[in-house]
Amino acid sequence: MNTNPKKQRIVFCDFDGTITKQETFVAMLSRFVPDKMKEFGRKLSQKQVTLREGVKGVVESIPSRDYPAVVEFIKDREIREGFYDFLLFLKAEEVPFVVISGGLRDSVKTRLAPFSDYIAGIFAPEIDSSGEYLRVVSAFEEGDELLAKVRVMELFKFEESIVIGDGITDHKIALASSVVLARDRLAQFMKQADREYILWDDFNDIREILQNLWHKTEKDDKVGNPSP
Ligand SMILES: [Mg+2]
Repeated sequence: MNTNPKKQRIVFCDFDGTITKQETFVAMLSRFVPDKMKEFGRKLSQKQVTLREGVKGVVESIPSRDYPAVVEFIKDREIREGFYDFLLFLKAEEVPFVVISGGLRDSVKTRLAPFSDYIAGIFAPEIDSSGEYLRVVSAFEEGDELLAKVRVMELFKFEESIVIGDGITDHKIALASSVVLARDRLAQFMKQADREYILWDDFNDIREILQNLWHKTEKDDKVGNPSP
């Protein structure tokens, strides 16, 4: 028996393009307000607008009467392989799983409803649909970010953080984390920043990677510092 207390670990996971196979938020915006999305894309590439201002502007151009359909849009979006087994693994390891998304909280919550027992928290901008148009309410707006993931991270107490992500909104939290599991643009970013990261493709990979990492570390800890 290992008498050392277990390291307090926590997993912070992005939603769009990470838990889901595709960027559902971008797809939703392109479906409901295509012209606004094109304009935003143009302005963003010319650096005339920040991600925070742009996303807010696009979401807030959606009429509130469309909101039920906006949330419904997420329902049949595909989730990456191995997600449920990964959540079971974390439960067995007693490691909390926290979702942090720059998308809409109602959408993320709706898609993840079947897994809610295994999720310690979902942090994402909320929507007020009481007016004529949607209004974004984000408790963690900061700088050019609509939801500063690092601020959410600071709400928790832990010794080791594991971040899982794929995109631009994961850059800062990845730099602030102990272990980074990256794919796509986040992997490119980490590589360019010359920072350590582990490449992954689906949640089966992640389960295997963490299983090896944690249990190998514990074995090493147990060995301690034997004298020859
Ligand atoms: Mg993403």
